[in-house]
Amino acid sequence: MIGAGHAGLAVSRGLTERGLDHVVLERGEVANSWRHERWDSLRLLTPNWQSRLPGFAYDGPDPDGFMTMPEVVAFVARYASVSCAPVRTRTAVTAVRPADGGYDVVTDQGPLRARSVVIASGACNVATKPGLHTAVPAAIAQVTALDYRNPAQLPDGGVLVVGAAATGVQLADELRRAGRRVTLSVGEHVRMPRLYRGRDVLWWMDASGVWNQRYDEIDDLGRARRLPSPQLVGTPERRTLDLNALGDAGVEIVGRLSAIRDGKALFSGALKNQFALADLKLNRLLDAFDAWAAANPRAVGDAAASERCEPTRAPEKSRLSIDLTTGEITSIVWATGFRPDYRWLEVPVLDAKGYLRHEGGVVDAPGLYAIGLPVLRRRKSSFIHGAEDDARDIAEHLDGYLATARTPTIQVS
Ligand SMILES: Cc1cc2nc3c(=O)[nH]c(=O)nc-3n(C[C@H](O)[C@H](O)[C@H](O)COP(=O)(O)OP(=O)(O)OC[C@H]3O[C@@H](n4cnc5c(N)ncnc54)[C@H](O)[C@@H]3O)c2cc1C
Repeated sequence: MIGAGHAGLAVSRGLTERGLDHVVLERGEVANSWRHERWDSLRLLTPNWQSRLPGFAYDGPDPDGFMTMPEVVAFVARYASVSCAPVRTRTAVTAVRPADGGYDVVTDQGPLRARSVVIASGACNVATKPGLHTAVPAAIAQVTALDYRNPAQLPDGGVLVVGAAATGVQLADELRRAGRRVTLSVGEHVRMPRLYRGRDVLWWMDASGVWNQRYDEIDDLGRARRLPSPQLVGTPERRTLDLNALGDAGVEIVGRLSAIRDGKALFSGALKNQFALADLKLNRLLDAFDAWAAANPRAVGDAAASERCEPTRAPEKSRLSIDLTTGEITSIVWATGFRPDYRWLEVPVLDAKGYLRHEGGVVDAPGLYAIGLPVLRRRKSSFIHGAEDDARDIAEHLDGYLATARTPTIQVS
């Protein structure tokens, strides 16, 4: 197993329950990404009651609350401990190569031989930035969501946040609240209210089965795997953080950043279309919740009546360009997504874009598996609670695979 985040630990537990000898190699500490790769104020956008892993669930006093990063670290670390997960911390995997019907696993602490390898190294190892970032004038500070910690880290002055998925809207909101002048560049996005009919919107995602939809039932799986994360924030007051809320707070909304030419950032003029599309998709989702509620009155209980959100308000006039040489903008925050890092993987299983070729986590090489990737086996796969079902399936498949092998599962050289 490579990686001791929640996903690797969930599969590890499944392997332990099946009596399968294994080791979890972790380059840092358990829950390393949550410890070292998130901004200071981040809370989960999934409510506490939804934080569950195989044989383990949130049992604190605030089921409707949202964990802070130290709380997530404690949650995942406690899971590793109660699962007695065989984790070797501070052991970075530097290469995995096919060898004798298994794999040579090279680490900075020595080599291992494994019959099977589960890649649980995370989907968000690297922050992606559009190529046009190289045209940003040198005087402007650039940070990605992986480098960003808090507003004080940025030089005084206006901030351009690029990207309006969960990360972009949360950082734009935090910077605005810190008194910054904030411009948010918005492309395709997924809008969600925090509460729908009096319940958390993620309760509806869960209960109605939308999040459980399997990868082999989704028409355009490639697109589903690339969808931006929903515009949600986890705050004690359970507020909605959409573009209307940001506009009301004084964030300037502009279109998708399409080019930087002669020091000028150029934005798409299709903002209204993006809003209309996001509103349309949101209403389709709410229609699906309502249809499910009508068919399942007992499950819905005393939920409030059906409702619809105010359409996203288009600004009177959105700017199509900003001169980055005037000092109006002093920093850019790239909230343009993340990707996995497989530079250590010496098995020919990556597609042209560098993503793993896999069928529901069964990678295109014997005995190689993955967990924790977007829509790996279900729509919920990349979320904490999504690991439960996926880990069970992967452990079962792996068990069947190993049953055909006679060699021990791991050999330490
Ligand atoms: C900003 C942000 C907010 C999120 N918010 C939520 C949320 O609210 N709710 C939710 O359910 N999900 C959320 N997620 C999604 C998801 O739960 C996290 O990305 C989670 O960390 C993924 O767990 P994982 O175990 O798949 O990967 P990770 O937690 O990233 O674990 C992978 C582990 O592998 C280790 N590793 C990587 N490469 C190597 C190597 N070569 N050798 C050894 N070890 C290696 C890493 O150090 C790391 O510990 C969020 C993600 C991000 C980026």
